[in-house]
Amino acid sequence: MLIDVLQIPPEGVDVDLPEEELDIGSSAQVWEGAATVRATMHIGRSGRGLLISGEMVGQIALLCSRCLERFPFRSEERLALYCETAGTGQSKQEIELSPDDLDVTYLEEGRIDTDRLLRESVLLSLPVQPLCREDCRGLCPRCGANLNHEACSCAPPQGDLRFQALRKLR
Ligand SMILES: [Zn+2]
Ligand SMILES: [Zn+2]
Repeated sequence: MLIDVLQIPPEGVDVDLPEEELDIGSSAQVWEGAATVRATMHIGRSGRGLLISGEMVGQIALLCSRCLERFPFRSEERLALYCETAGTGQSKQEIELSPDDLDVTYLEEGRIDTDRLLRESVLLSLPVQPLCREDCRGLCPRCGANLNHEACSCAPPQGDLRFQALRKLR
């Protein structure tokens, strides 16, 4: 959805974005397919900028970093962004943004690109190391069996080797 900044009244506007599929790009290792996102936000005017506040809920299929299986991930993020609207004729040097202020990338030609905004919110909400569950046992490093589902017959790694070494010492 594109929202024309000029159409935003002084008191701001409430925007309700119904659930939609959002292509957040391709990633071979972290997620699969599109995200499903919905959001509600209020866009208010603040000085020469816009304050966007609200909430978004996203769902996407992630790939577990240990066992490589797909699992559904749900993120709920608060939206709190500030956009400068300096556009026509205003000199850019007047813009002073603190590092905490969000950048202006959601604004394009005087319009707010909510898809882009939501896409970045989803990306930021993703865990660095997705896990299908906290105690995912991952794959056997030798035979590749998914240890969440089956016990393979490979010798257990490390721990027991050390144990055997201790035994030899005796
Ligand atoms: Zn897993
Ligand atoms: Zn194995």
